[in-house]
Amino acid sequence: MSVLSLQSFAKGEWIAPAGRISSLKSAVTGEVVAEIGSGALDFGAMAHHARNAGGPALRAMSFHQRAHLLKALAQYLNDRREALYELSYETGATKADSMIDIDGGIATLFVYASKGRRELPDDTIYIDGGLEQLSRSGNFVGQHVATSLQGVALHINAFNFPVWGMLEKLAPTLLAGVPAIVKPASSTAWLTEAAFRMIVESGILPEGAVQFIAGSTGDLIDRLTLQDVVSFTGSAATAMMLRANPNLLKNSVRFVAEQDSLNASILGPDATPGTPEFDAFIREVHREMTTKAGQKCTAIRRIIVPDAHRSAVIEALSDRLSKTTIGNPRDEATRMGALAGHAQRDDVREKAKRIGQDARLAFGDLDSVEVANADAQAGAFFSPILFECADPDGAQDVHEVEAFGPVSTVMGYRDLTHALALANRGQGSLVASVFTHDGAVARKVVEMSGAFHGRLYFANRDTGKDATGHGSPLPHMIHGGPGRAGGGEEMGGIRGVMHYMQRTAIQGSPDLLMAITKSWTPGSKTLEKDTHPFRLTFGDLEIGHTLRTEARTVSLEDIEHFAEFTGDNFYAHMDEEAAKANPFFPGRVAHGYLILSFAAGLFVEPAPGPVLANYGLDNLRFMKPVSPGDTLKVRLTAKQKARRNDEYGEVRWDVGVYNQDDEQVASYELLTMNAM
Ligand code: NAP
Repeated sequence: MSVLSLQSFAKGEWIAPAGRISSLKSAVTGEVVAEIGSGALDFGAMAHHARNAGGPALRAMSFHQRAHLLKALAQYLNDRREALYELSYETGATKADSMIDIDGGIATLFVYASKGRRELPDDTIYIDGGLEQLSRSGNFVGQHVATSLQGVALHINAFNFPVWGMLEKLAPTLLAGVPAIVKPASSTAWLTEAAFRMIVESGILPEGAVQFIAGSTGDLIDRLTLQDVVSFTGSAATAMMLRANPNLLKNSVRFVAEQDSLNASILGPDATPGTPEFDAFIREVHREMTTKAGQKCTAIRRIIVPDAHRSAVIEALSDRLSKTTIGNPRDEATRMGALAGHAQRDDVREKAKRIGQDARLAFGDLDSVEVANADAQAGAFFSPILFECADPDGAQDVHEVEAFGPVSTVMGYRDLTHALALANRGQGSLVASVFTHDGAVARKVVEMSGAFHGRLYFANRDTGKDATGHGSPLPHMIHGGPGRAGGGEEMGGIRGVMHYMQRTAIQGSPDLLMAITKSWTPGSKTLEKDTHPFRLTFGDLEIGHTLRTEARTVSLEDIEHFAEFTGDNFYAHMDEEAAKANPFFPGRVAHGYLILSFAAGLFVEPAPGPVLANYGLDNLRFMKPVSPGDTLKVRLTAKQKARRNDEYGEVRWDVGVYNQDDEQVASYELLTMNAM
């Protein structure tokens, strides 16, 4: 392989390395793979380009349009994965490792594309939560909304997941309408650069939406403003140094940090040897120690097991570790590849030695490793290391030192309270897993340990093969953790998008709020027209279009007929005495579902037309009982519209059912699918 010259991408142009150029070496052969150096970059101009070209172009699109970009990007990368796998081997990753990185990153784009279309509006303003009544009359109301930040996101990534690390940050950022400058860790940047190059070549993103720094960030951090975000993944030491930048502090620039973490896995008190939970635990710990050669922020560093089973766990793990083929990651038989480089290997060895002061070496060799089909000296290979700590209460380093490699420590606990106290001594982690089939154990774990961990992962015989793994951050769930883990949160579905948006409290009249949010709320004006709203296509229907129906009286016969027809003979509808004795009812009352059915009978327009289907009800409340002899009428108002595709869209209707005294007896939101 010829030596790659890693380029930056600034203001729409590829820029060759300049200034102080460093060589990047293969983790497997030690040969130079690439050269990197960012000396020629004008960081101020890059930020300006993002803010003045990328930002406006992205903000001109709705969430749905941005979601379509993500999907197209995911498909484009998906078709080109093979080229990325090839480059990934040189980082020391096996094919299985590369799939976590490359396929996992692409999957994250797909999930955000889908969530963007399903959970965000086809609009540029996000409505956060419900309407707040701020006055008795209803003429002054409040609503939280979120809008895109008008700056740039600087993504600083760690070396271990060169592709996923970039894509898991780009997906929510671009969906939020914010341009990004990606700065990968140098040691594996050739893979990130290749994936980034594909993104640029695809032509899918607007000009200025993404830029790339191969090398140092120069003075960029000193140039960030209140509209910008730094999203950092890496070591606690670098995070602390960057966070303390006076410009970031002065401008309260958002700083999302994902740092290192002393993650734990707990074998539940019920998960004794011979149970499916014990076997699953051993498999998972082994997998976490050896996948990516343990270079995972979520990897299991502390193995917390009942004292009585310490030996059984060590024996079972040692057996598996001894059968793990270490070597050339290109070989299909290889289960564990190399660390990212010699510096990384030296660092892991040094950290493992520190942990070794607290614990005895139970498996592995700190100084040598048997390697298949590769040169053990030239490549950054390292033996899996299993320690046993006999006194986890007195020990310090096992709870504090992260050896970012295949290094883990077994420690015993007396009871569950003790196990959780040990897990919490990591001072804030990304994930702790618990192998238990006992609901009471799971409940206690969440109560005592939830506050210390960003994610709690429970596995047992029921989750089986469906469980996604202790170490897999999923785009649907938050990734991050308190304290040492950085205090940040990434992903978590739409939560992750909000890091790149500003939440604003909007207060004003209902009409102004309707104009802002494009959502009708009680108190804002209604449009009463001759045309029945069900006769209007999605495009022609206006927000606020309202139908007020004729009235219909509910008789005792109606109630009895409904009871007999449906089989719902609940006493409140059928037994006067018993109903009266109930604190909610004056006597026999109409079924809630009868009220809904009569309401539909009042507002439905029967002939075929643009309304294609009733899609469900939200926020249904029965507010007052309806007695025999009461008269019902309905107000149906178009509240919100969300385009689904070229053929139809979802209409949300606000429905109020009122009695003869104009008291509201029921309220709900009806969803219909309407043809374009
Ligand atoms: P690192 O040395 O802290 O580097 C992280 C990133 O910061 C790299 O891109 C690095 O660039 C950059 N950086 C370093 N100094 C900088 C500066 N002065 N200004 C701007 N950027 C700077 O961490 P690493 O060795 O790459 O990653 C390993 C660590 O990351 C482990 O501790 C691991 O636990 C943690 N990690 C956490 C997560 C998570 O999601 N929580 C995920 C993966 C890894 P250069 O490479 O060019 O120096």
